[in-house]
Amino acid sequence: MRADREFGEAFELPPLGRREPLGRRRREGDGGLMSSRDQRFDQVLAQLLDPTRCRRNDSYDAHLSSLRGMKLPHPLTGELFESPVPPGSGWPEDPAVRRTPVARSAAEVVELAETGELAELEARVSVCRACSRLVEWREEVALGKRKSFADQPYWGRPIAGWGAAEPRILIAGLAPAAHGGNRTGRVFTGDRSGDWLFAALHRVGLANQPTSEHAGDGLQLTATRMIAAVRCAPPANKPTTEERDTCAPWFRRELQLALPTTRAIVCLGKFGYDALLNALASVGAAVPRPRPKFGHAVEHRIGDLTVLGCFHPSQQNTFTGKLTAPMLDAVLTRAKSLADLP
Ligand code: SF4
Repeated sequence: MRADREFGEAFELPPLGRREPLGRRRREGDGGLMSSRDQRFDQVLAQLLDPTRCRRNDSYDAHLSSLRGMKLPHPLTGELFESPVPPGSGWPEDPAVRRTPVARSAAEVVELAETGELAELEARVSVCRACSRLVEWREEVALGKRKSFADQPYWGRPIAGWGAAEPRILIAGLAPAAHGGNRTGRVFTGDRSGDWLFAALHRVGLANQPTSEHAGDGLQLTATRMIAAVRCAPPANKPTTEERDTCAPWFRRELQLALPTTRAIVCLGKFGYDALLNALASVGAAVPRPRPKFGHAVEHRIGDLTVLGCFHPSQQNTFTGKLTAPMLDAVLTRAKSLADLP
């Protein structure tokens, strides 16, 4: 399938079904390791789904249509699921049921975020359909998949916050990854960034196991919760300002429910840091003006909270040594100390 007609660019879209052999492709997260061919494929897919840039491609639409309704076994349980996964169909850790109310607009996100129950909030987040571009992207990625995950069902829904219901530490990021959280249904799970993060959480005693590969694997965090400012995987890891604002009520409400017990918030990367300060200000926290600057291991006191900056564990940062395991461990250990955790 050639893409040059649609985009005026001279390159070949890798044929579906004939992409990199299994084993040469690696897992992707925020900055995950991909072959250049995989990266190009995902860029082209993002362009195909960008209505401001091009017409939809009929061949790709036909391919996706042929995949709709196909059931594949969950890697842990072996149970069969469609991609995206219907709510309440038995996926491990699915917070929703079939009758969970669905937000279909920004106004409905505001309305449905007004619940006082964290479990109900998680359920409502996980079925949200308010951002048409992100819904289309996450579901088409779930259908099209990566070759290396072609035998798995993809979650293909928003990613709720995950971890302790009454945390003392929050870990805040920007958005889930297309083939990480969007595949496994758990934030930071199934991608290289998550591999780094969960290994570090285990080293410092905040997780009961060093890996997080699939929902339902028994992983538990100690007094720690992970949240993202935007709950759907965005094309090129970049949500628009409108999408970020539409998703903000979910983020705000989860913060409001978690803040009474939270003492330290670790922000992964500057985007997550900026989104967190906006959300804290919107729920009445005394965020200083001008805003304190992001920096690795730099901490700022905001009321009873301490906000810690941490370089994002993307492969761009970990491969170049900008973020090392001892650096990540030190930030998490400091968060533990601030949270009075043994
Ligand atoms: S990004 Fe947030 S508001 Fe938009 S569809 Fe996903 S969960 Fe809903």
